[in-house]
Amino acid sequence: MRALCAIALALLAGACLAPAKEVDAYFPVVPAVRIDPASLTPKGDALPVGPDHFRTAGGWTVLGWSLEGRPIHCLLLGHGPEFIVVVGTVHGDEPAGGPLLRRLAAHLEARPELLKGKQIALVPVANPDGLAHGVRLNARGRDINRNFPSNNWLPGERRGPAALSEPETRALFHLLSARRPQRIVTVHQPMVGINWDGPGKALAGRVAATARLPMLPMRERRGSIGSYAGRDRNIPVITFELPQAAATMRPGRLWARYGRALLLSVSWPSPGSNPGLRPRASKR
Ligand SMILES: [Zn+2]
Repeated sequence: MRALCAIALALLAGACLAPAKEVDAYFPVVPAVRIDPASLTPKGDALPVGPDHFRTAGGWTVLGWSLEGRPIHCLLLGHGPEFIVVVGTVHGDEPAGGPLLRRLAAHLEARPELLKGKQIALVPVANPDGLAHGVRLNARGRDINRNFPSNNWLPGERRGPAALSEPETRALFHLLSARRPQRIVTVHQPMVGINWDGPGKALAGRVAATARLPMLPMRERRGSIGSYAGRDRNIPVITFELPQAAATMRPGRLWARYGRALLLSVSWPSPGSNPGLRPRASKR
């Protein structure tokens, strides 16, 4: 019953906040709604909406719940066949992703032509408990980005006792399972550069040039979204690693500095999609 009340309250909050004019007021740090963590079984935190929702519906939805009962919000924009997932603040002490993604949402809402042929799912804050406490991990010290069921996953203190043991990871996993994304974009800090997993290197190069950041090859990370989606499922994963200083930049400055590159990362056509928008082949 408490869980049901919490869901109703959060949905109500989402409905009230969605039309807000000031984009940075969308879901700042959401107060905990005091769900009993013991009730967060894999079934208990299942999506309040089914996979079909992600093919047809738009607007804000609740993907799932953090350990401390904060909703993990997702904004669905567009209705096209190409599905792109953008995730920010997987690590709670990397706060720049939230405001940057909210600016991206506002830009895309104002320029619907950019959504032609696409559906874009934006999750500005994937780790709301970590953000509220200013820490990398979730409320029981697990790394959400080491808890995905990749082939290289192994149990560990930060990786958890089982893949998908953490409700925040499950919320993202539900989203990635609802529709196969053509691309995933994530925003992290504080290493400086553009990283990629899977077949994302060419796009990463263009994004890096646009962002005026270096390419940032990284070793494989067990249980990361890059290992699970990029390496195992062959989905291009582009990761922005913004500098630490981005944490204190105002949203307008963040968008002015990184918005163009972020926009490119979602608007660049995937192979086989939006043929009318694909870049012209160079003449020999
Ligand atoms: Zn990170």
